[in-house]
Amino acid sequence: HGNIEFKNVTFCYSETNIINDLNLTINAGEYVAFVGPSGIGKSTIASLIPRFYDIQNGQIQIDGIDIKDMELTALRKHIGIVQQDVYMYSGKVIDNIKYGNPNADKKSIIEAAKQANAHDFIMKLPNGYDTVIGEKGAKLSGGQKQRLSIARVFLKNPKIVIFDEATSSLDNRSERIVQNSLERLSKNRTTIVIAHRLSTIRNADRIYVFSHQGIEEIGTHEELMSSYGYYR
Ligand code: ADP
Ligand code: ADP
Repeated sequence: HGNIEFKNVTFCYSETNIINDLNLTINAGEYVAFVGPSGIGKSTIASLIPRFYDIQNGQIQIDGIDIKDMELTALRKHIGIVQQDVYMYSGKVIDNIKYGNPNADKKSIIEAAKQANAHDFIMKLPNGYDTVIGEKGAKLSGGQKQRLSIARVFLKNPKIVIFDEATSSLDNRSERIVQNSLERLSKNRTTIVIAHRLSTIRNADRIYVFSHQGIEEIGTHEELMSSYGYYR
């Protein structure tokens, strides 16, 4: 499960079309990366899957069902999202991870935290303070927040993971951790759609290179490198 199909998808935020007649299939369990110049629409395409925006034309299907015919909560239950700006709920890191699956027991929360390398700061407050519980402490770095959000995704265990990071803010260690997490999800047969992260996509099953004309090339990292020597 976790097959995603774009059929003749057209989308614009206001007047100018960002996506024109896009057709692409992401197989269940596939690890797919979108690359291409900044502003080309990679994030936009990824954000259409959890239906952050409605498309003007065409259809997006998940496992054969038009996402327009699904309840938003039902649709998003199956999708885990990691974004540049990680939303923080009240409470400690451990409480924040729990939002991935409110029914999870402490053991599975800690297991998810370990998988994302977020266990060493599990008792911290994400923003360094919490007005609800009235506590203060050190706040998390950008990389730690991202690991928290990946732990949340591990706990949620969705069919589809969307990893969208507009600009790279991770240090090398955090980046390696993210890469390992993606590989682990990929081994679990989770469908992964990743926009932007150039260095973590080498293991993607398929890389889509976008240009202003739409999909320019499709291939693995090795295929694209041997045909072009360079791609972005
Ligand atoms: P990429 O991910 O390839 O960098 P985006 O999908 O972020 O590209 O953006 C594609 C285009 O849509 C850009 O011109 C961007 O300015 C515009 N855009 C992105 N988000 C919005 C939004 N929420 N409202 C209006 N325009 C947007
Ligand atoms: P949850 O998994 O907590 O129920 P959602 O699936 O609604 O939350 O959203 C997951 C992530 O997507 C959150 O980080 C949230 O901030 C972000 N998000 C939700 N709606 C939008 C939107 N319209 N545009 C961009 N990001 C959004």
